[in-house]
Amino acid sequence: MVTLECGYDDCSLYGIGREGPDDVAPDDERRVCGGLCEDGQRCGRVFDRLGANGEREHVESDRPEPPPPPPEPTAEEKKQAALFGLRQLRTAALVASDWTQLPDSPLTPEQKAEATAYRKALRDALGKKDPKLPDTPAFVLVR
Ligand SMILES: [Zn+2]
Repeated sequence: MVTLECGYDDCSLYGIGREGPDDVAPDDERRVCGGLCEDGQRCGRVFDRLGANGEREHVESDRPEPPPPPPEPTAEEKKQAALFGLRQLRTAALVASDWTQLPDSPLTPEQKAEATAYRKALRDALGKKDPKLPDTPAFVLVR
């Protein structure tokens, strides 16, 4: 057995030895360091190989290029994400006001009409150019 350890001191695995097989070559994926560097990127360099007699094999190696950042969402994707969120809020608002439509709800006829108009506005809200949910009547929130 040999000891494998990262020889780069900006790495979280620097100097932390681990047992490895004798036959592990520099291009063997078992010799690739999985530590994290101080900048948060993966180390990915080749472990030093320490023999039983303390001899060290060090292979100069570079860190892999960090993956490119994910592309910015397009205006259309942002719009779709906002619509998705609004649709969830709308569904929750409809569920939360279902009780106003029950025949035995304690609402006055005026409140009932307001609640019905509010629910219609909720249903129509997302088809508009600049979608926005209507304000919830106070009596819908306080039950
Ligand atoms: Zn490392």
